Amino acid sequence: MFNLTYAFAEGNKDLRDILGGKGANLSEMTNLGLPVPQGFVVSTVACRAYLKAHELTDDLVTEIRSRVSDLETVTGKTFGHGADPLLVSVRSGAKFSMPGMMDTILNLGLNDVTVQRVAQRTENLAFAYGSYRRLIQMFGNVVFEIDIKDFNEASHKVENVRGYGSANFTRQDWLLVIEQYKQVFQAQAGQEFPQDVYDQLFIAVEAVFKSWDNDRAKVYRQLHNIPDDLGTAVNIQQMVFGNYSKDSGTGVMFTRNPATGAPGLFGEYLSQAQGEDIVSGARTPDPIANLEASKPQVYQQLKTIAEKLEKHYQDMQDVEFTVEDNHLYMLQTRNGKRTPNAAVNIAYDLYEEKLISAQEMISRIEPGMIEQLLHPSFLASDLAKHDSIASGLPASPGAATGEVIFTAQGAKVAAEKGHHVVLLRNETSPEDIVGMTVSEAVVTSRGGMTSHAAVVARGMGTCCVVGCQDLQVDEAGAVAHYAGGVLKEGDIISVDGTNGKIYLGTIKTTAGSVSDKLNKILAVCDKYARLQVFGNGETVKDIREAIVKGARGIGLARTEHMFFQPDRLKAMRQLILAENDADITSTLAYIKGEQKGDFVAMFETLLDKPCTIRLLDPPLHEFLPTKEADLQQLAQSIHKDYNWVAAKAAALREVNPMLGLRGVRLAVTLPQIYQMQVEAIIEAAILVSEAHQVNIIPEIMIPLIGVTPELEMAKKLCVDAAEGIFEKTGKRLDYKVGTMIEMPRACLIADELAQDADFFSFGTNDLTQLTFGYSRDDAHKFLPTYLEDHLLPNDPFQVLDTKGVGALMNMAATKGKAANPKLKVGVCGEVGGNAESIEFINTLPVDYVSCSPFRVPQARLICAQTQLRQEAEKNGVEYKASSVTA
Ligand code: PEP
Ligand code: MG
Repeated sequence: MFNLTYAFAEGNKDLRDILGGKGANLSEMTNLGLPVPQGFVVSTVACRAYLKAHELTDDLVTEIRSRVSDLETVTGKTFGHGADPLLVSVRSGAKFSMPGMMDTILNLGLNDVTVQRVAQRTENLAFAYGSYRRLIQMFGNVVFEIDIKDFNEASHKVENVRGYGSANFTRQDWLLVIEQYKQVFQAQAGQEFPQDVYDQLFIAVEAVFKSWDNDRAKVYRQLHNIPDDLGTAVNIQQMVFGNYSKDSGTGVMFTRNPATGAPGLFGEYLSQAQGEDIVSGARTPDPIANLEASKPQVYQQLKTIAEKLEKHYQDMQDVEFTVEDNHLYMLQTRNGKRTPNAAVNIAYDLYEEKLISAQEMISRIEPGMIEQLLHPSFLASDLAKHDSIASGLPASPGAATGEVIFTAQGAKVAAEKGHHVVLLRNETSPEDIVGMTVSEAVVTSRGGMTSHAAVVARGMGTCCVVGCQDLQVDEAGAVAHYAGGVLKEGDIISVDGTNGKIYLGTIKTTAGSVSDKLNKILAVCDKYARLQVFGNGETVKDIREAIVKGARGIGLARTEHMFFQPDRLKAMRQLILAENDADITSTLAYIKGEQKGDFVAMFETLLDKPCTIRLLDPPLHEFLPTKEADLQQLAQSIHKDYNWVAAKAAALREVNPMLGLRGVRLAVTLPQIYQMQVEAIIEAAILVSEAHQVNIIPEIMIPLIGVTPELEMAKKLCVDAAEGIFEKTGKRLDYKVGTMIEMPRACLIADELAQDADFFSFGTNDLTQLTFGYSRDDAHKFLPTYLEDHLLPNDPFQVLDTKGVGALMNMAATKGKAANPKLKVGVCGEVGGNAESIEFINTLPVDYVSCSPFRVPQARLICAQTQLRQEAEKNGVEYKASSVTA
C-alpha cells in the first residue's frame, strides 16, 4: 500500500510512520511553499524490508535511481558528472526523534572528478576539497567505523609538513590531503573509497538503515519506549552549504523560548559553518538575535517562516536552517521540546492567540509538569555532584535540606533556634505532628505510601520519603546507619521526595509556584471537568493552600490532627484516663472550647465554601505515650499514679489497632466525644455565619461505618447535639450528616446507609486495606516483591485497584444514589489525587475527589483531561496527549 520512496512534494506531516518525523515535516514545509532543498524520502517500509533481507532490493535501487534523476531535472544539476555536479545529504529520520542516535552522511556525489568541477564552478578550492575531505571522513566513520581522529591526523601531518594551515592550502596540498584520507580509508576499510557516486549513495542508504540497530539506538529506544520494529526513513536531499562563503552559515532556532515560553525567536547561528559544527561545539555560535543586524533580510524571512510554521503546526517549533550565500533554506522543523514552565506558558499563549482550542490547550499540559512546577527541586548542576546514600518510597514530592534530628521534640527545639530540620524516624505517630510541621523534610525507615508520615507530610506539602530501609534508625541512640556510614544528630542531609533519594550535605534547590497562566489554564479545566476537586486539610494554612490552588472546598478535615498540640494532647490524655463523669465533663469542656476555636478558624477561612468535617477516627491509644519515661511524665503531669497510668495504657493497646476501637466505635463506647465535636462545629458555624453574613452548611462525617445501626446511632447523636445547640442559642442552620465508606461491608449495604446519609465519601485507604487484607502500615514490606513479581500491577494504596476496590465503589455509589437520589458522593482517600485512579473514578456515579492541597492543581487538570478523553472515546474521536517536555 505504501511506496518505497516519496518525493517531498508527495508527502505530508501525517505520514510520520512512513516518512519518519524529519521526512514528513520536510514534505510538509515543501508543500507550504517554504524554501526546502529538493529531495526525497526512502520510507520506513523500505528500511523494514532491508532489515529482514539484509540487502537493498532491485525495486528500491531502481526507484532511488529514478528519484535522483528527477532531482537532477528539478535542480538542473547532474549526479556524478557534468559542470555542475549534484551533491546530496543522506540523513536518518525515524518516526520518533532519536537525536544523534543514527547516522548522517553529507556531500555525497563528490569524487576525484566532480570535486574539480565544484572547485572550478565555485572558484573556491578550500570549499570544494574541504567538502570532499569531509565526505571521505564521514563515509569512513559511518560505514566502516573509522575513528575521525585518524583522518584528522592525516590533515595535521600535511599542515605540519607545509608549515601552514588549510586556509592557505594550494591545489597540490589539497590533493595530498585527499590522498592521505583515501589511504586511511583503504587501510581500515579494506577497500578503496568508492568513486562511483551511486555506490556511495547505496552504501550510505544501507548504513543509515543499519544504524537503526546500532547499540546506542537500541538503548535509546528502550529508555524512551520506542518500539524496535519501526525502522528509520532516509532523507536524500540536495546539499546546501553553510560553509560556502562569508554570507553563509547555519542555525538552530526555536520559535519561542523553550525554557520560559516567551515569544520571539530563540536560538543560535554560526557563520561559515555546517550543522555539525554547531553540534560539535568547536566554535561558539552567536545568538540568533544578532542576525537582525548582520543579515536583516534573512532574519525577517526567518521570522515570517516561524510565524507561518507555528500557525500551521499550532505549536512552538524547533527549526534547523542553513544560509547559502544569503539564501535561506529550511532543513528541519518539529514540535520543540520545552520545560514544564514553558509548556504551560506556550499552551496558554497559543490559546490566547486563538491558534489552539481550550481542549487542545488542556491536552498539552502533562500532569507531571504541574507537580514539577509546584514543588522545589534540586538544582541539576548541584545534584550531579552528590551520590545518594539511601532511597525509599517517594511519599511527598519536593526537595529539602536540613540537619538530621531523631525526635519530634528535638525538631521543634532546633527549628525554634532557626535551624532547618529533617526529621528522621523509624515511623511517625500523631504525637510527632508538631515536629513534622516544623521540619523541611520527613524521612522514615518504615511505612508505606499511606503510612501516617506519608499522609500527613503530603497534606502539609512537606517533602517526605518513607520506608527507607537502607537506613537503620536508632532513635534512642540518635544515629542512623547506612551502607557507607553513619548519620548523627546535626548531620546535614538532602531529601528528594520526588524520587525517594537521600543525599549527604546541602544541595541547592529551585522554588516552585503556580503561575498566573497555569491558574488560568486550570480555571478553564474546571469548566470541562465533570468531577469537582476538593482539598483535604484541617489547619488554616492547609485550607488556604487548598483554596488558593483551586479546591472548591474541603472534602476531608481530619479532626484528630487538631489534638496533637501539647496542651490539647494533655487534655485528650486526661479524657482517656478519666475515672469519673465529672472528670470527663470538665476535660471535654476544655477540649470543646479549643475545637470550637479550630472550627471558627476553618469556617472563617472557607466562608460559604463547603467543608466536610470528620469526627474523631484513630484508636484512642494513639494519644497515649508508649515509652516508660513519657508515661511517667504523663502520670506526674496529671497527678496520677504511674502504675495505674501504665496499666491503663497497656489495656488500651491493641494487637490490630486499625481494626480496633476507632472510628464510629469510639462513639459507641464514649459518645460524649462526638457530641462535643458536633456541638463545637454547630456553635462555630452559627458564630461565623452571623459574623460574616454567609450561609455555612457544615457537613459532619462519621468514619468507619460497617453496620446500619452504627450510622443511625451516630446520626441521632449528631442531630441531638445540633438540636441542643439550636435550642440553647435560639438559632438554627442547615447541616448535613454523612458517612465515610471505607469498609467492604458498607459498600454491600450502601443502599441502606444512603437512607440515613446526606453524603458518602470513599476512604480508599481503609477500603483498600480492608478489601485486600493488607495492613496499610505494613504492606510496604511485601508490596515491592509483589510488584517485582507482577502479582500486582501497582501499589493499590497509590493507584486504585479498579477490579476489586473499584468494583465495590461502583456498587456502593450506584446503590447509594438509587436509594437516595440527593446523595452526594466523593472520594477522599489518597487515590483521589492520582491520575490513573481519577480516570476510573470519572466513570463512576461519583461527584468529586478530595486530595491533599498540593495535589489539587494536578487533580483539576486530570479531571478535565479524563473527561475530555472519555468524551472523545465515546464519540470515536482520537484524543492526543502531549509529550513535549525537555
Ligand atoms: C481513608 O481511609 O481513605 C481516609 C481518607 O481516612 P484516613 O486515611 O484518615 O484513615
Ligand atoms: Mg480511613
